[in-house]
Amino acid sequence: MDFEKLFQNQLDDLKAEGNYRIFAEMERKCGQHPRAANQGPDGAKDVTVWCSNDYLGMGQHPDVVEAMIDATRACGTGSGGTRNISGTAVQHVALEAELADLHHKEAALLFTSGYVSNWAALGTLGSRLPGAVIVSDSLNHASMIEGIRHSRADKVIWRHNDPEDLDRKLAEIPADRPKIVAFESVYSMDGDMAPIAEICDVADKHGAMTYIDEVHAVGMYGPRGGGVAEELGLMDRITLIEGTLGKAFGCFGGYITGSKALCDFIRSFSSGFIFTTALPPAVAAAAQTSIRHLKSSQVERQRQRAQVAKLRKRLTQLGIPHLDNPSHIIPVMIGDPIKCRMISDILMQDFGIYVQPINYPTVPKGTERLRFTPGPLHSDADIEHLCGALNSLWQQCALARQVA
Ligand SMILES: *Cc1c(COP(=O)(O)O)cnc(C)c1O
Repeated sequence: MDFEKLFQNQLDDLKAEGNYRIFAEMERKCGQHPRAANQGPDGAKDVTVWCSNDYLGMGQHPDVVEAMIDATRACGTGSGGTRNISGTAVQHVALEAELADLHHKEAALLFTSGYVSNWAALGTLGSRLPGAVIVSDSLNHASMIEGIRHSRADKVIWRHNDPEDLDRKLAEIPADRPKIVAFESVYSMDGDMAPIAEICDVADKHGAMTYIDEVHAVGMYGPRGGGVAEELGLMDRITLIEGTLGKAFGCFGGYITGSKALCDFIRSFSSGFIFTTALPPAVAAAAQTSIRHLKSSQVERQRQRAQVAKLRKRLTQLGIPHLDNPSHIIPVMIGDPIKCRMISDILMQDFGIYVQPINYPTVPKGTERLRFTPGPLHSDADIEHLCGALNSLWQQCALARQVA
C-alpha cells in the first residue's frame, strides 16, 4: 500500500480547488498589537493583523502578562497533573469562581480549550441523559457538532437563528425525552447574533434546557463582559453558558458555567475533562486577571465598537461588499476561493495587511470571504490604510462593488 500517494492525492485535490490551507507564520510583539512580524518568502516583515481573535489585545495587556510571569515564577510552568491527580491548582479554583460570578451562575468548570469544553460538555450531556435529543442550530461550530456526534444522542438540526423552526422541531420530539437546545450567541463567520430571548421562550415552552456558546462574545458584550446574554439580561434563562479564555480574554483554555449539579455532573462523567493535564496555573492566573479587568473596564469595549463602526462606514462608502451584522466581525465577501487567497496574498505582500482568506469548508462554497476584526488598538490611520488598499485592489482586479 502506497500511503504517501494516498495522502498526496487528497492534498492535490485540495490545492486544485484553492482550498489548501497555508498558515501565515507570525511573530507577535508584546506591546505592539495589532502589529506583528510575518515570516514571508523575503524574510520577516512588520504587518498589521486584521483577523486576530485576541479581539481586545488583552493577550498583551501589561497586567495580564505580569500575572502570567508572576505565577510562573511562583509555581513553575505546568500544573503537574490532571485535575483529579495532583493537578488542581489554587489558580484553577479561583478562576472557576471568577467565571461563575461573570455569568451569575453557581459554578464553572475549566477545560483545556473552548473546543474541548463544547466537545466534552455536549458529549457528556448527550450520552449520559437517557433518551436525550440534542437540537442544534444548523451553523453551530465544529466543536459542538463533534461533541454531539461523539455523544451518539439523537440530533435534530433547526434552521439557523429561526425560533419558529426550532419550535416545530421541538414539538415533534416526545415530551418525556430530555431536550438540549444548542446554539451560539455570535456566529463567527457571518457575525450575526442569535435571537436569544425568542430561543429561550421556545425552549421553555417545550421544557428544553438551553446551551449557548458565547466564545465570540465573552469579554466584549455586556457591562462586565459576560457576553450577549449578559447584555440582554438573559443569563439566568440559559442553563449552560460556554466560553473561551483564548479569544477576547487573550489567554488559553475553555469553560462552562451553570448550576452546581450541572457542573458537578460534567466534572464527574466527562472523559475530556478528567483525563487530560490541567491548564498551567500561570495561564489560569493570567485569564483571571484579564476577566477581572474586563469586568470593570469599559474602554476596550467602547473603543472596539467605535473602530468597528468606522471601518464599516468606510467600506460602505467605497462600495466594498461586506455583510451587515450587529457584531464586531466584518466579513468582506469575495465568493471565490482562488481570488480570496490572491487578495489576501497581495494585501500581505504589498500593503503589510494580514487578513486570512476564509474558504470552504469553514464557510460554504461561493461565500469565500475576508473576515476583519477591528479592535481597540487599530488606529484611524490603520483603517484608512486598509480601506485605501482594498479600494485599489477592487479597482485593479475589477471586483464588484456594492451600491448603497
Ligand atoms: C474558537 C471557537 C471555539 C473553540 O474555542 P477554543 O478556545 O479556540 O478552542 C468554540 N466555539 C466557537 C464558536 C469558536 O469560534
